[in-house]
Amino acid sequence: MDVTIIAETTADDLHPVTSQLVGAAITIGGTPTVLCPGGIGAAAAASISGVAKVIGVEGDCFETFDSGAWAAALNPLVSDGVVLAASAPSGREVAAQIAAMRGIPIIQDATGLEGGITVTRGIYSGKAVETVSVSAPCALTLRPNAFDAAADGGNADVSTVSQSSDVGVAVREAIAKVSERLDVSEADIIISGGRGMGDPANFTHLYEVADFIGAAVGASRAAVDTWGEIPHNMQVGQTGKTVNPNLYIAVGISGAIQHLAGMRSSKFIVAINKDPDAPIFGVADYGIVSTWEAALPVLKSELSSLLSN
Ligand SMILES: Cc1cc2nc3c(=O)[nH]c(=O)nc-3n(C[C@H](O)[C@H](O)[C@H](O)COP(=O)(O)OP(=O)(O)OC[C@H]3O[C@@H](n4cnc5c(N)ncnc54)[C@H](O)[C@@H]3O)c2cc1C
Repeated sequence: MDVTIIAETTADDLHPVTSQLVGAAITIGGTPTVLCPGGIGAAAAASISGVAKVIGVEGDCFETFDSGAWAAALNPLVSDGVVLAASAPSGREVAAQIAAMRGIPIIQDATGLEGGITVTRGIYSGKAVETVSVSAPCALTLRPNAFDAAADGGNADVSTVSQSSDVGVAVREAIAKVSERLDVSEADIIISGGRGMGDPANFTHLYEVADFIGAAVGASRAAVDTWGEIPHNMQVGQTGKTVNPNLYIAVGISGAIQHLAGMRSSKFIVAINKDPDAPIFGVADYGIVSTWEAALPVLKSELSSLLSN
């Protein structure tokens, strides 16, 4: 089956989610062609295992972000099969515009994909999960970190095509996020706090541990909703972000099913919870039955002596 992947890119490189799009394409029997808007990341895309072909799509319209202009420039290179993009702000918009131009259905924010094509995704703000069957041609956007990435080791052909299209909306300035901290969806290590932290001010203890180990700080929905001070972009779970780090440390988080939905595929899970029956211990590789008030100072001092040696 022909699969065209719209690569997700940063300012100057391929975003790692593109490997996950390739992994997902392979699970539905696809032979993916990767389109790199602005030609960014074409060499990196070619080195992903399973990629059949990479096309760097260059043109003035890629100097700014206008989803209509990008879609118009990319659309002639899209094949008749499945269009895949990341469920990220730009990927969602470009995929929707391409779907509209081609008159094909689009399913946004898929969290599961099987041959056939069967798509799983949350609906009604994550209150229910629906399974949809769709046939090609169609467009799908996939939630970052919900799919296994294809390995490195590919050696696909790379070609470059110049396209032009009219830019209707030009981004005049991109302002960097106020926080210098790592985003949970991109971190290799995450330490997350729940309502058991007692007060948002206590998240400073999580930030201290995070600084030792280069982690991002996340939160449960209860922590986000209860105090109104923890931003939603830190929320991990069904209605937050899906994460897939090497190490996930859950502190004062019960382990409700909706939280697990966003983090259970983490490679190693450590839980600190005072309740030995908390469900989080059911998925944890290492469990510490303790209050965080007792456990975090020990963790900090152990890390401090480890890192100073
Ligand atoms: C449609 C829907 C979508 C949802 N989406 C999400 C989502 O995306 N993400 C999400 O997280 N939740 C989500 N939820 C909410 C979810 O059901 C839980 O309510 C939420 O995850 C609970 O958060 P919590 O574990 O921090 O809080 P609680 O359930 O209040 O648990 C607090 C935990 O902290 C422990 N604790 C208390 N004090 C201490 C201490 N001093 N030291 C150590 N441990 C302590 C307690 O034993 C307890 O286990 C969703 C719910 C619905 C209905």
